[in-house]
Amino acid sequence: MAKKQYAVIGMGRFGSSIANALSGMGFDVLAIDANEQRTQEMSNVVTHAVSADSTDEEALRALGIRNFDVVVVAIGEDIQASILTTLILKDMGVPVLIVKAQNELHGKVLQKIGADKVIYPERDMGLRVAHHLTSPNILDYIELSEDYSILEIRASEQMIGKNLLELNIRARFGCNVMAIKSGGSMNISPYAEDRIVDGDVLVIVGHKDHLTKLELAYP
Ligand code: ADP
Repeated sequence: MAKKQYAVIGMGRFGSSIANALSGMGFDVLAIDANEQRTQEMSNVVTHAVSADSTDEEALRALGIRNFDVVVVAIGEDIQASILTTLILKDMGVPVLIVKAQNELHGKVLQKIGADKVIYPERDMGLRVAHHLTSPNILDYIELSEDYSILEIRASEQMIGKNLLELNIRARFGCNVMAIKSGGSMNISPYAEDRIVDGDVLVIVGHKDHLTKLELAYP
């Protein structure tokens, strides 16, 4: 199977971080930014770095952007440029279009004009940090949808030595323990008899409200 080809437009903090990571994973990445200095900075990191204005349809066409498997639009501040770029790319028939939104309204517009996935990096990171701040045992919090999330929680003292049946998380909170990280290994399909030991991390999926109750029960 051919390696996936990615294009990332906008080499701000978010875009350059994505381009960097994809490149590090061995993928071909085209980095685009209107600012020449930004593309220069990326030229040693990615396969190709090009200076172009992504609101210029001809410029995008000349770059063969349509042939990329995934295009990420990571223009934040300039909402107009982000929307125009998304519209042009959608019209061109880019297979998968992922766009960063600056706020909810921006995100709604992006969704309406056909972005396949809208991401809110600041909002999501804020949420994760907030959950971590409320309890040091909360290691991560990932929103799956408006209502459901995944929580990573370090086993608290009350959990240690108990098995999943005794903890009874499903009946008490309506949440599911998806996995238990133990030492260096990951038990991705835990049994009711699996016992929690000190240092374990539970990966739990559930409704936001139910997860909040669980967080409060295990501070
Ligand atoms: P972040 O918050 O992730 O740092 P910014 O909004 O600060 O994002 O950066 C976005 C990047 O997108 C900047 O480097 C800017 O030069 C680039 N950019 C903005 N408009 C365009 C455009 N029309 N075409 C290409 N790049 C653009």
